[in-house]
Amino acid sequence: MSKKVLVIGESREGSLRNVTFEAIAAANIISDGGEVVGVLCGAGDMEAMGQEMVYHGATRVITLANEELKTYTSDGFSQAIFQVIEDESPEGIVMGHTAIGKDLTPKLASKLESGLISDATEVVAEGDKIVFTRPIYSGKAFEKKEITDGVVFATIRPNNIPALERNEELAGEVSARDVDIQNIRTIIKDIIRKSSEGVDLSEAKVIVAGGRGVKSSEGFEPLEQLADVLGGTVGASRGACDAGYCDYSLQIGQTGKVVTPDLYIACGISGAIQHLAGMSNSKVIVAINKDPEANIFNVADYGIVGDLFDVVPKLVEEIKQM
Ligand code: FAD
Repeated sequence: MSKKVLVIGESREGSLRNVTFEAIAAANIISDGGEVVGVLCGAGDMEAMGQEMVYHGATRVITLANEELKTYTSDGFSQAIFQVIEDESPEGIVMGHTAIGKDLTPKLASKLESGLISDATEVVAEGDKIVFTRPIYSGKAFEKKEITDGVVFATIRPNNIPALERNEELAGEVSARDVDIQNIRTIIKDIIRKSSEGVDLSEAKVIVAGGRGVKSSEGFEPLEQLADVLGGTVGASRGACDAGYCDYSLQIGQTGKVVTPDLYIACGISGAIQHLAGMSNSKVIVAINKDPEANIFNVADYGIVGDLFDVVPKLVEEIKQM
């Protein structure tokens, strides 16, 4: 049965995040030929970003521009989006399982008194049912879930559900809507970015991650070179972060970021269960470790037993010559 599905888009520094397009693809599966309505809060060229959402499969897009929505606050965004939900009465809502998605969606779901399927890695239509797959027990197993009553509300894990192909021939209205926002309890005074470079870890296609085996912050340099030649970004284990070799914003794992790149290269990482929780669903895993018994080899598709300081520079040279 066709449904109206709302997609909450996300932008950063004036550009849509890729997970927005993946959420539109998921919404198209849920809607089963019904309407896919994009909603976008924030700053930047809202009209152009709304148009991009249309080119990726949204039927129409509502943009919400307001002084209070220039930077994310839980209060501001939830009030604004809730007003659109009240207008549109969608039967489904989808958003990326990002830091903002994780904060915003439970708040909206509780206001709607609806359930929420979080961190879905797959969305499949099985007859009249929409079946979501999501990880449990820190990624050690997967469960299948469906919502049988009320709004089908879900967040999707970045890099798992392929976006639809961009098509400039798709037409759809992009309209701006006023919103009434009151009593914001959080005031963002300034945003200090730890690193302005590199790709967002949760959306990266290639990650070269370093562990305690890199031995120092300088030890990350060959990993950065490998990430550069592969067009990827650098991540880390908590071991490396705890040792002060890199910033905690790079931490991957149970208490860090969950990533699903096409290629994950683990260098000097032992493969503790808490690290695997954040990366074991990567499409191809390569492990470089001098201990042949390291647990990381149990999840690796390709393993290189050796010293990372010998192996990584050789890989960089080989790739440069390709
Ligand atoms: P180690 O376990 O010390 O492994 C270093 C590896 O490097 C070894 O296998 C060694 O053989 C190899 N090595 C050394 N030198 C070289 C070399 N020259 N060349 C090649 N290989 C070399 N960890 C996370 O990563 N993410 C999390 O989110 C996380 N959350 C946690 C939450 C909790 C509640 C707890 C208790 C722990 C958590 N941890 C997490 C920590 C986790 O248990 C491990 O301690 C950590 O992952 C180990 O990091 P590591 O593999 O870099 O270091």
